[in-house]
Amino acid sequence: MAEHRTFSQRVCEELVHESTDRDCCILAELSALTQTSGSLGFLGGGRFSVTYQVESLQLARRIYRMLKQGLSLSPSLHVVEHHRLGGQKTCVITVDGEDAPRLLNDLSMMSTSPDGTMTLRRMTPHVSLSRQCCRKSFLRGAFLGCGSMTGPEKSYHMEWVTGEENLTTAVRKMLERNGIEAHATERRGRTVVYLKNAQAIVDVLALMGAHAAVMEMENIRITKQVRGNANRASNCDEHNTERMLNASERQMRAIRKITLQHGLASLPPALRQMARLRLEQPELSLEELGKQLDPPIGKSGVSHRLARLEKIAETIPEEEEDT
Ligand SMILES: [Zn+2]
Repeated sequence: MAEHRTFSQRVCEELVHESTDRDCCILAELSALTQTSGSLGFLGGGRFSVTYQVESLQLARRIYRMLKQGLSLSPSLHVVEHHRLGGQKTCVITVDGEDAPRLLNDLSMMSTSPDGTMTLRRMTPHVSLSRQCCRKSFLRGAFLGCGSMTGPEKSYHMEWVTGEENLTTAVRKMLERNGIEAHATERRGRTVVYLKNAQAIVDVLALMGAHAAVMEMENIRITKQVRGNANRASNCDEHNTERMLNASERQMRAIRKITLQHGLASLPPALRQMARLRLEQPELSLEELGKQLDPPIGKSGVSHRLARLEKIAETIPEEEEDT
């Protein structure tokens, strides 16, 4: 059965099983899922309900669990089968009664005045994303709700499709905080935020916690890269090429570590530019890298900057989760 699943489906399956223990992260992920899959129903008399509709039963169970165990609410979950659509299913999770205002309050969509009156402040959840742990959870929720990716053996493409401008902005901001530059375009009245850069996609998969997908994609990428390098390397001294690629790999690992813990934005501009270029062009020599910098610098300058990046990475403890 597994072989019929697309790469994207396998990523979602992995993410659905990623544990989320902290209250702050549960709220961050729910905030993204509410924007992608949630809707507000007004029942009259000032009462309302919040409903989530998703296709995957596993995702439905995850949302249900987060609402119940994370926020101590009593949601209901039922599955609607569409006979006319060949038995396609929609899972519906409903939060109503006293729980609905509590949920909206937690998602910062409502405000409570001193006399206890609750007012709907905004139609989309607002969540504090000042912590790296929450940013990761938010990205995971957004991917589960409206994300997908192409199998890396075909091409490098990851995207989020949404009609919610807040979500578009939030996803781009989260990516930016981690040194990943996303592009956006319109498709049938919806915004598509997308990535085409293999390294950026790997970084996002790692951020969201899809580690098996990272491994699989890195393997595919290395195979592709080695095949591409084989011709170029055949003319050079084999040992030199190998040594250069090993150094490049070490530098990339260091830069990725910095990206994941602090984001490339934390670096001074010269180092940030260096880091981006190295990630984009793993096979370039130091001279070639130097020529592509703006302004261009010599081989020793490049070597110095890369050494500084590796030094910075060394100061980051392996297990650190938050920043
Ligand atoms: Zn958190």
